[in-house]
Amino acid sequence: MEILSAHPVPAHARAVKATAREFAEQHIAPVAADYYESGEYPWEVLEAGMEAGLVGQDLSEEFGGKGYDLEQVLAIAEEFFRADAGIALTLQLASFGAEIVEDHGSEAQKKEYLRPIAENEQITGLAVSEPETGSDLTGMTTSAEAQGDEWVLNGEKYWVGNAVEADWLTLYAKTGDDPNNRYDNYSMFIVPTDAEGYDAEHVPEKMGFRASKQGHIVLDNCRIPKDHLIGVEGAGFYMLAEFFNRGRVVVGGHGLGLAAAAIEEAWEFVHDREAFGRTINEFQAVQHKLSDMQLQFQSARSLTWDAARRVANQEDAGYWAALAKTAGTEAATECSQKGMQLFGGRSVLLENRLSRVFRDARMPVIYEGPNDIQRNLIYRQTPQ
Ligand SMILES: Cc1cc2nc3c(=O)[nH]c(=O)nc-3n(C[C@H](O)[C@H](O)[C@H](O)COP(=O)(O)OP(=O)(O)OC[C@H]3O[C@@H](n4cnc5c(N)ncnc54)[C@H](O)[C@@H]3O)c2cc1C
Repeated sequence: MEILSAHPVPAHARAVKATAREFAEQHIAPVAADYYESGEYPWEVLEAGMEAGLVGQDLSEEFGGKGYDLEQVLAIAEEFFRADAGIALTLQLASFGAEIVEDHGSEAQKKEYLRPIAENEQITGLAVSEPETGSDLTGMTTSAEAQGDEWVLNGEKYWVGNAVEADWLTLYAKTGDDPNNRYDNYSMFIVPTDAEGYDAEHVPEKMGFRASKQGHIVLDNCRIPKDHLIGVEGAGFYMLAEFFNRGRVVVGGHGLGLAAAAIEEAWEFVHDREAFGRTINEFQAVQHKLSDMQLQFQSARSLTWDAARRVANQEDAGYWAALAKTAGTEAATECSQKGMQLFGGRSVLLENRLSRVFRDARMPVIYEGPNDIQRNLIYRQTPQ
């Protein structure tokens, strides 16, 4: 079955969707089970993705990228996540946060930091979450203090993709202390991972997304040059909010890729498995489960692609991004849950693709803002 169809992908994103499909079938799907088991960082797949021109290419042509727009990045996300979520996240996070430098950084920062990412000589990541909170962007305590011609960073970051592997990170830190203006208290910085006072180790082993690596960073009087501040001091919260609007649409695509994998697996299984003298797809209860899975997937997919267009056009972006993230990622949890039921006892075997999808589906409902937070945003930003 072809559930991840070309429609509703707009015409200009279909070529890259086809390239991403071919790449995923050749380079991700065949090694997905092995990486899942070993939990190793998929350097070889990342390098192959770079060679295929599918990594870090949302950066503009001026800095060596292809300038892929939101819809093109979403098309790649759906295909990669259908093949394996952990490897997909690693490929998509290789430039995570660099877009903030492109949008707000100085010309000198862009020249020095963006070209190596777009030309795939370096990888990056975005450091926002902390051990004590990931949801509350105005509750984070990592601080950046100006001292002479340097910033001195102190605090901890947690869950940061590529914290150990990256060459540099875009990092969110507190630069002000105004209780009446808490959104203005944060700034964004470029932090090279070889800076003195920067230390990172991997977070403990995860149940899913095994081929993606997150780290725990300790910043102990970590000194970076003054010109590593991105844009204006105090504008970090707003930069992140804008960045997450695009990111959350793409995370909707993470969920859709996972949901598509769950539907494909379940469909194939029920047409093959026999019980009571017939294949189980003949039971109406089974048919209804598959119908419900498709109802949820197709509604979430239409919403996500509609949201991609609206966010790109700056139409109530925060509202549409939160809707897409919630719908796409919950399609993944719902479809994988139903698929597991249809698979019977075999559902729990680690070797089954569906059991990987089921475990992976637990994560996009949390990262880039838990869906409870998305629901807050949907309500608060409802167009009036
Ligand atoms: C695989 C993975 C990759 C990640 N990658 C990155 C990364 O690259 N960079 C990065 O910075 N972070 C990353 N994260 C962190 C992720 O963004 C945070 O886990 C997430 O924001 C939630 O933060 P928390 O875990 O501290 O949960 P908390 O903030 O402690 O929230 C726990 C729960 O409380 C509830 N809750 C909290 N506040 C509210 C509220 N206001 N309203 C309603 N309910 C609420 C929700 O149910 C929420 O799930 C990653 C996480 C995972 C699992």
